[in-house]
Amino acid sequence: MTASYGAQFVDEEDIDAVCAVLRGTNLTCGTLVDQFEEKLANIVKARYAITCSNGTTALHLASIVAGIKPGDYVIVPSITFLATANAPRTCGANILFCDVDPNSGLIEESHVIDAIKRSPQKPVALYPVDLAGQPACTAAIRKLCQEYDIKIIEDACHALGTTFVADNLKSAVGDNAYADLTIFSFHPVKNITTGEGGAVTTNDSILYEKMKCLRSHGMIRGSRHFNNVDLAFDDAHTINPWYYEMQEIGYNYRLTDIQAALGISQLNKLENFKGIRRSLKSAYDQILEPYKECIAPIRAVQNADPCWHLYTVLIDFEKLGVSRAFIMKALSERKIGSQVHYIPVHLQPYYSQHGFASELPGAMSYYAKTLSLPLHVHLNTEDIKYITRNLLEVLGLQ
Ligand SMILES: *Cc1c(COP(=O)(O)O)cnc(C)c1O
Repeated sequence: MTASYGAQFVDEEDIDAVCAVLRGTNLTCGTLVDQFEEKLANIVKARYAITCSNGTTALHLASIVAGIKPGDYVIVPSITFLATANAPRTCGANILFCDVDPNSGLIEESHVIDAIKRSPQKPVALYPVDLAGQPACTAAIRKLCQEYDIKIIEDACHALGTTFVADNLKSAVGDNAYADLTIFSFHPVKNITTGEGGAVTTNDSILYEKMKCLRSHGMIRGSRHFNNVDLAFDDAHTINPWYYEMQEIGYNYRLTDIQAALGISQLNKLENFKGIRRSLKSAYDQILEPYKECIAPIRAVQNADPCWHLYTVLIDFEKLGVSRAFIMKALSERKIGSQVHYIPVHLQPYYSQHGFASELPGAMSYYAKTLSLPLHVHLNTEDIKYITRNLLEVLGLQ
């Protein structure tokens, strides 16, 4: 058995869907992108979904339409992938790295309050990260951000398929009940894949229209609101058929129809994927339960039904007298992949050199202990037994 920490699950149905596009006429800018967006919006119960070339460009697009400008301050948890901070940084924002709960890796209201207090000026946006698939946006955080007029851009790259109950209401990550914009990624290790790909969901029609325009070069076609009236219209005030106009700087962040076809087919399997991930997680939890003093699963969010992206444990390496590097190498020799999610982003030289370093004890504690074990749809409970037996062995616990 070779088990990487994450892997895609692509079947013949997916392959047929992609081949059908390749045999057709539109490889990009066809109708499948709209279909994929509609299906995604329906599943996460958002009014609008807009796909992008990847999760990072989706984060960038969301940051632009949220109005993030040079010199603004935004709050980003330090336990996340680089892209969560890089997207607003690309807009010129200053990053206020925020602490997280040492047992879940998630932000809590107190961490956000602390970041607001440290900020030289009122922050304009918060980027909660749904680490491992658990929901990070709460009613309390939403209320706090509303008081301070802080936009919430939820990085849900781990959490497609996650649902939870808050205020007695069932919510799906992406429905934006507690966020303004939600970002998903379809990289092969994520809950579904399109190769590369991403999406933003929102319930705000203005933000949606802006993103649609900026995703495709900032080009406007067929509008009555053109600025260059002389170029746009003929003498009879009819729009010239070739005419397009760019009023703001845009990008090419589009997804192809090839990818959209794969995405549609993968979305059909999301509930099934979620069930498999849930049962693998509980198999891990059950086997590791007797060792919880040294190996603890991350703290579970109450009233949540996550689509688990990662199976992460917090290992007390100090108490066990072994290093994480030794354990990872020993697992690798036994063909078991593992990964660290994540190196606190505030420690990255780029960010510390730009003066964004901070004291974040929760993030540092989480980082010291975290290890993600293989979790993906190809695995079964026998694999989990093999992985845990080997983990306990290399840790000297069995
Ligand atoms: C994967 C990921 C991203 C970036 O997504 P890409 O599609 O790889 O660009 C951003 N944030 C988090 C938390 C991620 O896991």
